[in-house]
Amino acid sequence: MADKRKVGVLGGGQLGRMLIEAANRLNIQVNILDVAASPAKQISAHDGHITGSFKEAAAVKELAQSCDVVTVEIEHVDTQMLEEVAGSVVVEPSWKTLRIIKDKFLQKAYLKEHGVDVAESVELHGADPTAIREVGTKFGYPFMLKSKTEAYDGRGNFVVKSEEDAARAKEVLGDRPLYAERWADFRLELAVMVVKTKDGVLTFPTVETVHEDSVCKLTYAPPRNVSAEAASRAQELAKKAIATFEGKGVFGVEMFLLKDDTLLVNEIAPRPHNSGHYTIEACPISQYDAHLRAILDLPIPAASLRLREPAIMLNILGGKTPDSHAQIAKAALEYPNASVHLYGKGDARPGRKMGHITITAPTLSACEREVQPLIDLVDNQKG
Ligand code: ATP
Ligand code: MG
Ligand code: MG
Repeated sequence: MADKRKVGVLGGGQLGRMLIEAANRLNIQVNILDVAASPAKQISAHDGHITGSFKEAAAVKELAQSCDVVTVEIEHVDTQMLEEVAGSVVVEPSWKTLRIIKDKFLQKAYLKEHGVDVAESVELHGADPTAIREVGTKFGYPFMLKSKTEAYDGRGNFVVKSEEDAARAKEVLGDRPLYAERWADFRLELAVMVVKTKDGVLTFPTVETVHEDSVCKLTYAPPRNVSAEAASRAQELAKKAIATFEGKGVFGVEMFLLKDDTLLVNEIAPRPHNSGHYTIEACPISQYDAHLRAILDLPIPAASLRLREPAIMLNILGGKTPDSHAQIAKAALEYPNASVHLYGKGDARPGRKMGHITITAPTLSACEREVQPLIDLVDNQKG
């Protein structure tokens, strides 16, 4: 038993599942709050789990009473109840941090206030087409319309390409709380996993992320065609952003590298993140190990956050048939440097994250050669 304390997690999806994989190796008990047989619960046999929703106050309270440290694998949680229980149980990161981050507009206003560069944004009250056109006059086209809350995998984003899109925007996002963001004409996207401990802020290496239809498709570690200077600037910016928040744990920082080589923060996740999956195979300790160690004040040598070997991570999304993801995973088993992860989710909706593949090799080009046929397969199976 590395630690007798019990960890409670709001959410039991794939991130919770991979957190449990890390906790199991250290004999740390993790109690999951989510529906029965959620991906995380499937790999953790004890009677400490709670059935219910992480958005529901009573269930959050019940989880808090069952453990010593409460954390999250998703930010769309009831922070009201977390605030209430914070007097009797440790909540990491702080409920204040979760409350700011779960509202993207609030998050960006907060970052701007703290001197962290983000795309210019403006609040909207409803999706009135006239108001949307006014934003177009201010920002020019295209610009991004975003839901302030409950957004993930691009569900909550709408690209307004021209004045004519204003009515369609109302149809797609009309009933959600909205804000608009100036278009970031980026050269590429970068991400850094930051670890906030009791002693300070550490980072994993900078990676490049490739999104397709607003969903992360690939990550490259190290990034392609990015100078060491820019990669290190991204780490510094990520550290600066996370140092402003209260609490401990890992944070994913998504950034845009603009054509003039400057960086903007796109958004922050107060938890393990898709862009950090590669750390499981490519680094001495993974983002999941780091999260557990950070929230429990266990040692994290800075050198254990280094890249041992270049890596490429490819997401496996639900495809055109219900078993597309299983076919991709099976094909990946033939590749000598591929680690295959399936999440134990039920139905495979097109675009739903069902698993991922990480390839590590002595050079990034060797990873690229090995992953290419799998990318082709993913493209062929696209729903
Ligand atoms: P996640 O699953 O990462 O939480 P999300 O639904 O919160 O995604 P965002 O990160 O806001 O969505 O956007 C998804 C992607 O859309 C970004 O990675 C980027 O490719 C593109 N994007 C977002 N905002 C902008 C912008 N202002 N300008 C240009 N492209 C953008
Ligand atoms: Mg997001
Ligand atoms: Mg994002």
